[in-house]
Amino acid sequence: MTKLIYYQDQYKTEIDAKVVKVEGNKILLDKTIFIPQTNTEPGDFGKVNDVKIAGSKREEANVWHIIPQYNPFKIGDKVKLRLDWKYRLNAMKLHSALHLLAGVFDSKFKERAIAGVVKPKNAYLVFKNEISDEKVKQAIEQANKDIKSGLEIKTYWDEKKKGFRWCAIKDYSPIPCGGLHIKNTKEIKEITLETKEIEDGKQKITIAVK
Ligand SMILES: [Zn+2]
Repeated sequence: MTKLIYYQDQYKTEIDAKVVKVEGNKILLDKTIFIPQTNTEPGDFGKVNDVKIAGSKREEANVWHIIPQYNPFKIGDKVKLRLDWKYRLNAMKLHSALHLLAGVFDSKFKERAIAGVVKPKNAYLVFKNEISDEKVKQAIEQANKDIKSGLEIKTYWDEKKKGFRWCAIKDYSPIPCGGLHIKNTKEIKEITLETKEIEDGKQKITIAVK
């Protein structure tokens, strides 16, 4: 079972770890700061010693790190992990921006996002119904006000459902989430609208952060 350091401290960029299993081009460590890729999140990059990982993959309680070519690691090796922080910080900002904007749409217009996806350079929300340009403009304005006022972003584990995690921003409805967020909306700096389009009959709103 890998100890998930990124859930304890999402700002940690370096740790020492130990190789506990090796399988082909994959290694398993006793702990990690690299969050795995999912359908909605890009996942982290970084280095194990001097080797750049090609990504990481979650398998139940384990996180495997993928070594792109020749795998120099063996069981028992002590290694240093270094996170690609610029990439991670941007992902946390985009991710938190989606939570905030989804919260605004819900509380202001009773429009609930049905999906949220973070890409390396931008992120988008999907809504079942079309939303007017004016509403989108107002929602982004409100979110940017919230960014300026510096709202706390909290994550916590569900008391009853094991492994279920929540993310809450001030009075907005908490959203179930296994991702990583910054601690305060101030860190987002500003949300900008990239595109607003109808895709497969649904409203897709793509944003970027400063
Ligand atoms: Zn989240």
